[in-house]
Amino acid sequence: MIEDKNQAKTPLTELGEFGLIDHLTKHFEIKQSSTIKGIGDDSAVLDFKDQKVVVTTDMLVEQVHFDLSYAPLKHLGYKAIMVNLSDVYAMNATATQVTVSIAVSNRFPLEALEELYAGIETAAKFYDIDIIGGDTTSSTTGLIISVTAIGVANESDLVYRSGAKPNDLLVVTGDLGAAYMGLQVLEREKEVFKVNPKNQPDLDAYTYIIERQLKPEARKDIVKLLKDLEVKPTSMIDISDGLSSEILHLCKHSKVGMELYENKLPLDPQVISTCEEFDIDSTTIALNGGEDYELLMTISQEDFPKIKGNPNLTVIGFVTEESKGKHLITRAETSIPIIAKGWNSFD
Ligand code: ADP
Ligand code: MG
Repeated sequence: MIEDKNQAKTPLTELGEFGLIDHLTKHFEIKQSSTIKGIGDDSAVLDFKDQKVVVTTDMLVEQVHFDLSYAPLKHLGYKAIMVNLSDVYAMNATATQVTVSIAVSNRFPLEALEELYAGIETAAKFYDIDIIGGDTTSSTTGLIISVTAIGVANESDLVYRSGAKPNDLLVVTGDLGAAYMGLQVLEREKEVFKVNPKNQPDLDAYTYIIERQLKPEARKDIVKLLKDLEVKPTSMIDISDGLSSEILHLCKHSKVGMELYENKLPLDPQVISTCEEFDIDSTTIALNGGEDYELLMTISQEDFPKIKGNPNLTVIGFVTEESKGKHLITRAETSIPIIAKGWNSFD
């Protein structure tokens, strides 16, 4: 949060658009055999042979999706890739390439964009994807990052939102609500910092939830795990807007209802303790928090023995006939309708 006055600051005008693109991308390596041509021509060229290709785009806008007063640019670059890869994995596909487009104002020096691209490059390296192009333009105010991710799958492996059937199990990966609570802590510290900039926050008790907010990981490992377990979900979606919102999407596209059990919701101890500290109900956070980038899926009952006891997968409910509606069964065994209170950029 503290600006380093000694840090070098090279104005972007010194490089010009082409110099900037070249500077940021010149050392990118191509690793995927499907990338015929990456950065450097009018278009990239890809070859996926007889596999199906999935394409997805997400945009991150300063002051809408991120706040640079606490989000380090390196983490932001990493996260911009993650939110896109998460959508590829939610199709049960393998991510292979991304394009990265940025609109940037001249308040950013070259060094800031180097940080952003260091995060992008780290993500590409860890997740084994090629950066094959993008666009660079100016913005009069904030920073905008738009990423398009490309992936492949055999047609028979693709999982849509529309395949859930009554009696299927509702399964979620990882734990819920941590990214949202991490954001609450960061927002609180930002306010404290405004009042007293000398106050260095002690964030040791919140490391997990802050990391989940600033540097999420897309669940590439789950696509592999499902393959290894020989489980093909009947439907799947990634959790970006909050569990309840995603449940409603699966129900709508699959024309089914769902019952969700409050006592099955996976929560990290740091989420529980931070919810207590902020006096917020942890179930509300698990349902509506958003930005978890976990995968929510339905699987056939027959596959239950294959996933039983797996620490990455938690059964949180089951699928019903559409006419039964969507309900949360509380710890007190009351049934309340699930409504979407997820994050909405038009709120
Ligand atoms: P054009 O004028 O044909 O759109 P550009 O000069 O914008 O080409 O881009 C030149 C090359 O650099 C293209 O391969 C493009 O995909 C790539 N590129 C441009 N901006 C970025 C960026 N921010 N990140 C990665 N690649 C980029
Ligand atoms: Mg261009």
